[in-house]
Amino acid sequence: MKILFYGTKNYDEEFFEKLLPSFPGITIKFTEANIHEETASLAKGYEAICAFVNADLGTEIIEELHNQGVKLILMRCAGYNNVDLETAHKYGIRVLRVPGYSPEAVAEHAMALALTANRHTHKAYIKCRENNFALSGLMGVNFHGKTAGIIGTGKIGQAMARICRGFGMKVIAYDLFPNPNLDCVEYVSLDELLAQSDLISLHCPLTKETRHLINAETIEKMKDGVILVNTSRGGLIRTDDLIAGIREHKFFAVGLDVYEEETDFVFEDMSEMILPSSITQRLLSFPNVVMTSHQGFFTREALTNIAETTMENARAYMNGEELKNEVLS
Ligand code: NAD
Repeated sequence: MKILFYGTKNYDEEFFEKLLPSFPGITIKFTEANIHEETASLAKGYEAICAFVNADLGTEIIEELHNQGVKLILMRCAGYNNVDLETAHKYGIRVLRVPGYSPEAVAEHAMALALTANRHTHKAYIKCRENNFALSGLMGVNFHGKTAGIIGTGKIGQAMARICRGFGMKVIAYDLFPNPNLDCVEYVSLDELLAQSDLISLHCPLTKETRHLINAETIEKMKDGVILVNTSRGGLIRTDDLIAGIREHKFFAVGLDVYEEETDFVFEDMSEMILPSSITQRLLSFPNVVMTSHQGFFTREALTNIAETTMENARAYMNGEELKNEVLS
């Protein structure tokens, strides 16, 4: 089976190439180009393509993949909100993903963002480098004894809940489907979570229901001085409302690994470019906001698991076995 890997970086190639000898019958072609209108036709002659979170797999692209004979989309990530599943299924294209490749990788990054934003570590580092050893502007708050609110208690939310417990926090959670076996959290309604939490961390997927879950109305319900962290998907937060909330001093700190306009330049070096829009710049203009560029997953362990599961998914499809990681809806 021939697979075309779209949007690859040197680290993708490193982790997948290591595994190839263990998967006879599968050949891979890597291309740095991401999948979009102009590049979808490159898939001609490939039975499968492999794509990542920043790929556009909307209706037209899936139609083009179907025209080129593609039968399988391998997502080398957990999320699939960027895939038009209805169209894929209409053409009989199977979509597989990598669920839970390393929940701890993302949860640890969520806590790193919370701590950095809270204790201004990013600023302290620069200040020390410039021989400025004064502490003004760096004061934070203790997490110990405070309340963490986890929205979405799947694999990553649970890992984050355990980390928060380790910090001596009370952990409350909101989920459409509460997990009765999760004994380290107390489930509450969304409104209660917003009202009680000192730290709110988002871990639910981006769906029609969760788009702009954090908006002017929900921000209003939060405690003054709350810390908000988003490592899930940018679309969970209505950015203009977040900016308004920051201006009104609602937040002690905000840590974002994902944000609404990221798709156009995530994972790219844009340091020489004049950016076409300004959401990132506006957010970064606030002293209490810390941003990273979708790197929650980026650990050796996670990349190893992503490569292994993606290749296992490909092999299962090739051998006509059960597809346990198929995305059906
Ligand atoms: P998961 O499927 O294990 O858990 C998601 C949880 O959210 C489930 O418990 C589900 O019931 C809950 N949920 C669904 N709709 C909800 C709603 N409307 N309100 C409240 N809860 C709701 O997923 P996961 O592996 O924990 O991943 C969570 C998200 O993290 C992914 O969807 C993805 O967007 C994001 N993610 C980010 C990175 C990164 O690098 N920053 C990496 C991997 C995943």
